[in-house]
Amino acid sequence: MRKPLIAGNWKMNGSKELIETFGRAFAEIDLPSPVDVVIHPPFPYLDAARQAFVKTPVGLGAQTLNPLHSGARTGEVSGQMLNEFGVDYVLVGHSERRQLYHESDEQVHERVMAALEAGIKPILCVGETLEERDAGRSEEVVLRQVGYVMARLDSAQRQQMTIAYEPVWAIGTGRTASPAQAQQMMAAIRRYQSGFDRELADALRLLYGGSMNASNAKELLAQQDIDGGLIGGASLKVDDFIAICQSAG
Ligand code: 13P
Repeated sequence: MRKPLIAGNWKMNGSKELIETFGRAFAEIDLPSPVDVVIHPPFPYLDAARQAFVKTPVGLGAQTLNPLHSGARTGEVSGQMLNEFGVDYVLVGHSERRQLYHESDEQVHERVMAALEAGIKPILCVGETLEERDAGRSEEVVLRQVGYVMARLDSAQRQQMTIAYEPVWAIGTGRTASPAQAQQMMAAIRRYQSGFDRELADALRLLYGGSMNASNAKELLAQQDIDGGLIGGASLKVDDFIAICQSAG
């Protein structure tokens, strides 16, 4: 059985106050069943989040990292630094990073390696654009993104991975992939993975992301190959985010 993971990607949003609100709210609730929860706030809030989440089941996530340990990379943050702040997970290859900061598959792989070296679990984000979907290329694009990274990892490294399928056309648009569309892609990713290692493919956690909210989460999470969610907008509203975590049970 795969343990569900619900991850909140705050992107460049949030505040110290919101961190504290989440810390208080999660300290008071009991999540109904085994579920991993993680919040990815912007870098400056990581330490406040670490403190605020101490008495909660919420883990700490970062949104990206630089592949180097240290050096002349103004504005960047390394895996070692994240590790020092108790970061458990890091997003790698989010479509906003691929599109706005031109991160290639190769650079995504370098970041995955840096995260693994720093003892942080990467959440590899993949997904096709609307143009690619309309051209019937969704699966080809997504499996290329997954394959580029996974084929370059050894079996122990692959076991540390989580994959988030986030169709670009569903991110921040209010247009969610249908449960059937999402399930179809998840099944394709898992099938592809079983080409390397059957056992790993069965254990690999696959998250859906893209306009997931408190109303549609249950149906998406009920799909056979969807093991959790990567939530943007709805992860900034504590009641909605808690409702999503509860529907993962
Ligand atoms: P939304 O949930 O706002 O669509 O964002 C999804 C996302 O990009 C999470 O990484």
